[in-house]
Order: sequence, then structure tokens, then C-alpha cells
Amino acid sequence: MIYPIVKYGREVLEKPGNPVVDFNSDLEKLVADMFETMYAANGVGLAAPQIGLPLRLSVIDTSVGEDPRQKLVLANPLIVSMEGEQVQEEGCLSLPDFRAKTPRPERVTVQAQDVHGQEFTMTGAGLLARAFCHEIDHLNGKLFIQHVGRLKRESIKRKVRKMAKAGEW
Ligand code: ZN
Repeated sequence: MIYPIVKYGREVLEKPGNPVVDFNSDLEKLVADMFETMYAANGVGLAAPQIGLPLRLSVIDTSVGEDPRQKLVLANPLIVSMEGEQVQEEGCLSLPDFRAKTPRPERVTVQAQDVHGQEFTMTGAGLLARAFCHEIDHLNGKLFIQHVGRLKRESIKRKVRKMAKAGEW
């Protein structure tokens, strides 16, 4: 099932999510639906708050469906270490058509649980490190525009307000 994606402005995107506690068949179904929703939107990551669920759960696939080995489920993830810096254009499915140069660490190590509740630790560099940070931000109620320059952030907010007023958001 493909969920509608919640856009910037909705409260669920700016509140920390609740921990995932039940690793059962409902969670497996939800994760499958999150992958389907993410692929339908051509995204590399999707967090549960983006489909309106205040849960610490996210899916990532930096191959965008090309390589099943790249599929990652992060339940209750934490960043345990990071190093370096990269600055690249970043976007978000909850802010469609807006992109901005966003600083992120170059390498990030996360600790998380998979869909079965199994704990794992994983290090990502480049785009994967960026995706880890972006998704974990979502679970903490943060969006990428909080990391961009103030002028850029205000310009995006202004455009969103304008579109909302016109009923286009
Ligand atoms: Zn996002």
C-alpha cells in the first residue's frame, strides 16, 4: 500500500517519534508499505512521521530500488559516531521540489534494530551517511532546512506559505 506523504507544516513532522516496541507482522507490513511508498516517490529514505506515524522507524535505499542488498530498516536508530564533513544538495519528500546545499558529516556510524528487532551497527559514507542523518533527524522532529543557511530557510518557508495560501501545498 502506498501512503500519502505528509508535507512540511504538519505537526507530526516536528515532534520526536515514539520508540518501536512491537517487532511483529504488523511492523513487517508497515515496513514493506514504507518501501513501496518511498519507491513510488523516487526517494532514498522515508521516515514513519512522513506518513503521519509518530514512530522511530525509517527505511533507506540509496540505490532507489536497483539493488535489494541496499535496503535498510532503521528502528530506534542512534548515531554513535561521526567524522568529517560534506556539503551537497539535499531534498526531502515532505518538501517536494525544494533542494538546498546542506552540510553533513562524511562518515556516520549508527546503531539500530532491524525489522525483527535484531540490533546492528553500521557505518556509512557519502550519500548513505547523509541519509542516516536526514532520517534520524526526522525521528527527532527535525527537517533538513534546519541545517541550511537562514536566508535559504526563510525563502523556502515563504514559498511554502505562499503555495499553502494558494491551496497548492
Ligand atoms: Zn526527509
